[in-house]
Amino acid sequence: MRRISVFGATGSIGVNTIDLLRRQGGAEAFRIVALTGGRNIDLLAAQARELRAEVAVTAHEDRLPDLRAALQGSGVEAAAGPAALIEAAERPADWVMSAIVGAAGLAPGFAALRHGTTLALANKESLVAAGPLLLAEAARHNARILPVDSEHSAVFQALTGERIEDVERVVITASGGPFRDWSLAQLEGATLAEASHHPNWAMGQRITIDSASMFNKAMELIETREYFGIAPERIEAIVHPESLVHALVGFRDGALMAHLGAPDMRHAIGYALNWPARRELPVARLDLARIGQLTFQAPDPVRFPALRLAREVMAIRGAAGAVFNAAKEVALDGFIAGRIGFMDMARLVESLLSDMSSRQGLGNAPASLDNVLAVDAEARALGRERLSTGRI
Ligand code: NAD
Ligand code: MG
Repeated sequence: MRRISVFGATGSIGVNTIDLLRRQGGAEAFRIVALTGGRNIDLLAAQARELRAEVAVTAHEDRLPDLRAALQGSGVEAAAGPAALIEAAERPADWVMSAIVGAAGLAPGFAALRHGTTLALANKESLVAAGPLLLAEAARHNARILPVDSEHSAVFQALTGERIEDVERVVITASGGPFRDWSLAQLEGATLAEASHHPNWAMGQRITIDSASMFNKAMELIETREYFGIAPERIEAIVHPESLVHALVGFRDGALMAHLGAPDMRHAIGYALNWPARRELPVARLDLARIGQLTFQAPDPVRFPALRLAREVMAIRGAAGAVFNAAKEVALDGFIAGRIGFMDMARLVESLLSDMSSRQGLGNAPASLDNVLAVDAEARALGRERLSTGRI
């Protein structure tokens, strides 16, 4: 039986992953090693009981008594806190879903790679903050990383059987989010509620807001570069409001291979779960005649400065990705807390990149995960200071 762990099991990607595991036979078909979550103890305990996990881990130490109580008599171990997350990641498994949100997902992913697992990577922050290190760690331990972001799964599928040297360009699509047609003035006043609703995808709150600001697409440009090793000038983002084409790969002979499907993350998750096989998945089938037309438009770099910042980050590389990710997380915290406006997020990220660059230069690549976490911590501290003084 395949041994499976799911990090971030209680989130949007995690719940979809559990749904697929259940549909493919659940505890009868898989040996579930670890499931992890945050404050939603009831859900985590229910998942762990149903799938007969070895261990359930909450990220929050103060929730351990609740988790213990919820797992009473089930035979599932309960654990809590960041060290317990690493310990769970160190337990050998054949397939590990990395679906914690934010830089908190970095360390468990690295730990899982060390036992040569297949890491299904939804946590794009890992590739943005530490792409080269993560890939090197995978190579060192003969582990495999499979992309779970819909665009990157689409590119991965379009590249099956192709040679990377033949790739002329990669185009990832963006829905444009709820503010696609908003003016700059409207964007300045966008509220948390408005930014927390995505027209096509049901996702966690943080990635939903990142989609509205296009920071999500910015992260994905970097993710494309890191995962596939494609030069930044060959990577494009295009707005496609229907979210049916997920990505396109252009080859040197002019062919453009597009990946289409319903906007349902269970496709990308299920593809990674069953790779290299394909299995039936519970996703809607597209009726193209009914859909009628697909539309595309160029993204606007003025209203969505995140895309320009991603280009800068890719040009510097080195530690720029770690700073970019941390700065974006702090800016998002600030927006969620109501301390800064919607467009201030990009302003804060840009000024943190420039500050960190003049402090220490960003060209040198971090040599270890600890270095990445140190850069991350410094950028966050600086960002929080900015938020508290209101001087963005
Ligand atoms: P979510 O907020 O719905 O879930 C996040 C999960 O991580 C939860 O289980 C939560 O308990 C856990 N978590 C949060 N903070 C933690 C911490 N500090 N330590 C340990 N665990 C913590 O998020 P999501 O939308 O499922 O996204 C998860 C990851 O997948 C993100 O990196 C996101 O960018 C990526 N992703 C999501 C989607 C999507 O459709 N939701 C699509 C592509 C990529
Ligand atoms: Mg995506």
